[in-house]
Formats: sequence, structure tokens, C-alpha cells
Amino acid sequence: MIELRNVAKSFGSVEVLKDISLDVHAGEVVSILGPSGSGKSTLLRCLNHLETADRGVIRVAGEPVGYKEKNGKLYELRPNEIAKRRRDIGMVFQRFNLFPHMTAIENIIESPVQILGHKKSAAIADAKVLLEQVGLGDKGDNYPSQLSGGQQQRVAIARALAMKPSVLLFDEPTSALDPELVGEVLQVMTKLAKEGMTMVVVTHEIGFARDVCDRVVFMDGGVIVEEGAPEDVIQNPQHERTKRFLARVL
Ligand code: ADP
Ligand code: MG
Repeated sequence: MIELRNVAKSFGSVEVLKDISLDVHAGEVVSILGPSGSGKSTLLRCLNHLETADRGVIRVAGEPVGYKEKNGKLYELRPNEIAKRRRDIGMVFQRFNLFPHMTAIENIIESPVQILGHKKSAAIADAKVLLEQVGLGDKGDNYPSQLSGGQQQRVAIARALAMKPSVLLFDEPTSALDPELVGEVLQVMTKLAKEGMTMVVVTHEIGFARDVCDRVVFMDGGVIVEEGAPEDVIQNPQHERTKRFLARVL
């Protein structure tokens, strides 16, 4: 579902991603761990066309990111074509980024109606089902300011799901939450994982990585230092840098 081959990305003279190769299979849930500044967000942003990689190949759901393939050749996509592709890749951010002047339902139906051209009545019916799924069936008419951080993040997840994406990317989805609200968001993510959603989750929640993810990737300094089954990487890290990082967060 996701394929990265020798991906590199620099900002000015700083190489933030150095030769990253990674595969994520359909239905797989992969967590990315690593210290601040190691390139985790940049990696997600490259997957979602928010940044363009300098080198290497990225494919999501079979399509090269940023390019279209014709007769074996790659052609750069135009901005409107990039926007179209981005629909297929859901992204949930640390800050929930809900529109403050819209209710939960209005937030969820915005893209299905405006971008996919769905009928408003059908989009509202879909949104209600999604809100039920994230445990907020009774909050559809609430504005973000009337919801807790955990509830807002669950609306943000429902909003991403409303586009029926092939993959969902999470960038530290619980880092901005009060500790007592982290669990309700992880619970929704666990349910999605069990239902077979393909997910890449940048997180510091080691428990989630260990118990829910199929694979853990540890990044440091723009490279993948090690990856493998959670029990291997977390309980028995092979590299000094992984050991040091885990000692700090566990
Ligand atoms: P992480 O998510 O692991 O904390 P990031 O991918 O956000 O790491 O950042 C990796 C490095 O790239 C950091 O040194 C950061 O300052 C730098 N960086 C990220 N985005 C930009 C940008 N748009 N312009 C310049 N430098 C950036
Ligand atoms: Mg980050």
C-alpha cells in the first residue's frame, strides 16, 4: 500500500531524510518512533504530497506520489491533480485543525460535499455513522469549542475517514492532549487497526506501538535505525540509539 525507495529530502543544506526505504502492506499498522527532529513528520508529509522528496520513489496505493506514470515515464502532477490524489490519504495531526466556525457534522461533511461532490443529505447520514464509530453519536451539532481535546481529535479522525482513504497517517495524534484524554483517542485508533485500516502512526505512546502495531520503525537523524516486530524493537532493541531513546520514554 505504501512503498518508499531511497527517499531523501533536504531543507537548504540540512538533509532531513537520508535514503529511507520502507514498505507498508495493506491492513498493516506501523508506528514510527524517534526523537524530535529525526524526520518523522517530514516522512509523513512526503507521503501526503505536502512535501516533495528530492530523490527516491514513493508510491501510495500503487500510484507514484507527485507524479503520474504514462508509458513507463513519470510526469509531474499539477496542483489540482495532487489535491485529487491527496483525498486518498487521510491525515490526522497533533493539533486537530477542525474549522472552529463549523459543527462536528459540518466539519466532517465539508470535503465529501465540496471535493467529492456528495449530496449533503447523504454526507450527513455518513457523518452520523462515523460519529457513532468514534463514540460521539450525540455530539454532531457541537462546535469544536464545546468539545474536549479528545473529542475534537475523534471528530478529526471521523473527518479523515469520511473521505474513505486507502491509508491513514497520524502525526503524534495524542501529544497535544491532557493525559486523561489520550486513552479515548487510542481506543478509536485501536478499533480502526482491528478493522483492517492501513495506518502509519508517529507516536510516543510506546504501549500503543507495542500492543496494537504490527511493526515498529525507529528513526533517528533522518535514517531508519531499526525496524521490526514491536516485541523485538521495544523489548530487545539492537542499536545503541534505540536503547537510549527507549530508556528516555519508557
Ligand atoms: P520530527 O517530526 O521527527 O520531530 P521533522 O520532520 O519535523 O522531525 O523535522 C526534521 C528536521 O527538519 C528538523 O531539524 C526540522 O527543523 C527540519 N524541518 C522540518 N520542516 C522544515 C521546513 N519546512 N523548513 C526547514 N526545516 C524544516
Ligand atoms: Mg514531528
